[in-house]
Amino acid sequence: MRKKLAATAFLAWAALYGAAWGQECSQTIEGNDLIQYNLAEIRVSADCGEFTVNLRHVGQLPANVMGHNWVLTRTEDYMAVAAAAQAVGPPQYLPNGDPRIIGATSMIGGGDEVTVTFDTSELEAGGDYTYFCSFPGHYVLMNGKFIVE
Ligand code: ZN
Repeated sequence: MRKKLAATAFLAWAALYGAAWGQECSQTIEGNDLIQYNLAEIRVSADCGEFTVNLRHVGQLPANVMGHNWVLTRTEDYMAVAAAAQAVGPPQYLPNGDPRIIGATSMIGGGDEVTVTFDTSELEAGGDYTYFCSFPGHYVLMNGKFIVE
């Protein structure tokens, strides 16, 4: 618990620090028990060499019932990776080492949070990227645009 608080404090500090320099290289996003993210899009500066996503599951249901993660792919790969994830099965519902996955957190349940930092230096400004939850069926409702600008 203390570790999570420290990580959150660091992210808050990093967000403020980034904003002071006109550049946001991290984002907190929430998932809830209604199969929803609280953000429909995330914007990232092309100048960010890497980007950090902090996923908070603000619901109460356990990961085997209402698991959430945050997975980023090219939009053209999103449906295929979601299908592959379902085939992998529990508990992670994500293919290991799939080159189509740009960044991904682990699967968490209500009350948990998880952070991932990934390389964005190869992403194209104006490219078409989609993030989603790879728990079976969730990609339909839990998805958003990842916009590099
Ligand atoms: Zn989910």
